[in-house]
Amino acid sequence: MKKVKYDICPTGKRAYAEERDAERAMGRARARRERFGAARGTMRGLKVENRIYWCSICEGHHLTEMSRREFTLITGAAA
Ligand SMILES: [Zn+2]
Repeated sequence: MKKVKYDICPTGKRAYAEERDAERAMGRARARRERFGAARGTMRGLKVENRIYWCSICEGHHLTEMSRREFTLITGAAA
């Protein structure tokens, strides 16, 4: 198993050693938002983590709700 340098990255985000751990966490976060949105009757204005990216600072994966444009700016990836 890979080791992350930090459980919580210096950027303040939770770091996941494995991409699939990040995916699981994203699934849980999404389910929570969807229940909340259903209770409110709308998903409008709710932020949803929708991307996983690799961070070279903590050598772990992070979740982000960034748009594709912001994501590309930060990672330099054309994802
Ligand atoms: Zn990081």
